[in-house]
Amino acid sequence: MSKERLYIFDTTLRDGAQTQGVHFSIDEKTKIAHALDSLGVDYIEGGWPGANPSDTEFFQKGLNLKNSIFTAFGMTKKTGRSAENDPGLSALINSNTNSVCVVGKSWDFHVDVALGISNEENLENIKETTKHFVKNNKEFMFDAEHFFDGYKANPKYALECIKAAYENGAKWIVLCDTNGGTLPHEVTDTVKEVSKHIPGENLGIHAHNDTGNAVANSIAAVMSGARQIQGTINGLGERCGNANLMSIIPTFHLKKELSDKFEINIKEKNIKHITQCSRLLDEILNRKPNKHLPYVGAAAFSHKGGLHVSAVQKDPKNL
Ligand SMILES: [Zn+2]
Repeated sequence: MSKERLYIFDTTLRDGAQTQGVHFSIDEKTKIAHALDSLGVDYIEGGWPGANPSDTEFFQKGLNLKNSIFTAFGMTKKTGRSAENDPGLSALINSNTNSVCVVGKSWDFHVDVALGISNEENLENIKETTKHFVKNNKEFMFDAEHFFDGYKANPKYALECIKAAYENGAKWIVLCDTNGGTLPHEVTDTVKEVSKHIPGENLGIHAHNDTGNAVANSIAAVMSGARQIQGTINGLGERCGNANLMSIIPTFHLKKELSDKFEINIKEKNIKHITQCSRLLDEILNRKPNKHLPYVGAAAFSHKGGLHVSAVQKDPKNL
């Protein structure tokens, strides 16, 4: 049976960089990007050119990546401007990446309260933004902000938003649990419903960790059809963080049910690089490595005597 391809998207340098107290220099960003490239993640989101001067400079400098696709982040065009005349979109086009990831609203409440525009205007902004990048030969991803809350409140409109991107050529529709409040069974139900409208091979998940479920929610989304996972090194991210790719990547190798079904670009021999990635980030942030992190922590796979160790000694499958 041929395996299904699962794509890993790292946003340490964009969403992770929005964490309070975190600021990466261009040199540090370059180091992190090269570590992720050696690991073999599919996409590296480098930042928000145009919104942040050091990000603009980072993109201008360019990176010679071997395995990963460098991706620029931005937001949908403003109401009242054409896509061609929107400075935010121009900054993304000028960032010279093959791929762009653009965030937009999919919750009618936020369209009204945060943007102060009509639902139709928001749909038009998504549609025109998508068309603009597709016309400029960019691989286009649409980050549907607060998708799970939006879908709960108004499923019809939330679907219209993502369809506006997909039907105009978006390669990926990324369902974002922006405030991290969604639980795994809700992710399962929603992704199953959404994949009736948009093929799972075009769906991604971007989960925050406010209920401690970002990794579980990412896996639940994949089990329900999604084929791209967004996350960060060590789960770095604002508030309680993003999905921790250092936990997700090994899980897709080590758990047979997942490794039998899915294939990721990170080869088994490169798995050891996840510890290096994890430590590199700690070093840059001047943080002491967390011994108790799954897979990469010094205490992972070590046992103190007790019930569990006695079970492992009897049968290593109990690990
Ligand atoms: Zn986020």
